Amino acid sequence: MGEGGVLVEWDWWTVDFGDAHAGAVGVLVGGGEPGPVYFDVGSGSYVPSTRHWSAYDGRYRRPRAEALRAVCACGWRGAAEYPMDWATIGDRPLYEADVDLTGPLADWTAHLSVVREATVPLPEPLAVLLIEMAGRLNAAAEDAPLAALRAAGVLERIASRVGREAVGALCDDSPSAEAVATGLGTTYSKALVTTSALLAFGFAGADCARKRVVSPAARTLRAAGDTVSMSCTDFAGPDHEQGGAFDHDWC
Ligand SMILES: [Zn+2]
Repeated sequence: MGEGGVLVEWDWWTVDFGDAHAGAVGVLVGGGEPGPVYFDVGSGSYVPSTRHWSAYDGRYRRPRAEALRAVCACGWRGAAEYPMDWATIGDRPLYEADVDLTGPLADWTAHLSVVREATVPLPEPLAVLLIEMAGRLNAAAEDAPLAALRAAGVLERIASRVGREAVGALCDDSPSAEAVATGLGTTYSKALVTTSALLAFGFAGADCARKRVVSPAARTLRAAGDTVSMSCTDFAGPDHEQGGAFDHDWC
């Protein structure tokens, strides 16, 4: 995940919330968040940098972390600060110093609980199925990787289509992007732009607009009392281009 070209390495990630609520150990220096650490790799225009907590070790003129706290990609910051015990750490690199990160991790986990609490609940049988499917796919990835890849492709196409259909159905309620973001446990901007779970609200805008436009051909068919069932490649995108006929009532 980039932030002004700086690589941000997240320490914790869940399939539930993805990049919207990726968590990391944050660093405090002088009461604030320091800028990225740059690595001097000699000449050349590319200077690698990082914000990973373990880079703030005070060596080679880098800033030295005074305290750690949990941070989340959504902007949330843990209230608790965990002072660094440099007397014990000594001159060791931080990644070798066995620093206790259970405090920040617990804080971030608690933050996720709050986020999860506000999301729309999954129907129990569906939640159980998702967990079981994840387990089976993980096992297949080890035992039968090619079959796992095929299954992953099927899932992607199902998810893409279901996402579009759900967005279409959501149009009738016209929920705000904020409501969608909260219900999905994602951020407002991700609800608008990226989240693949809802391909998301970016599609909804276009879909809702088109839903009100009934093509002349459809109007003629309807007038004749026919069921409107026609290809809608112009509307639905690549996953519908393989000759499917769909019963979208707005086609
Ligand atoms: Zn978050």
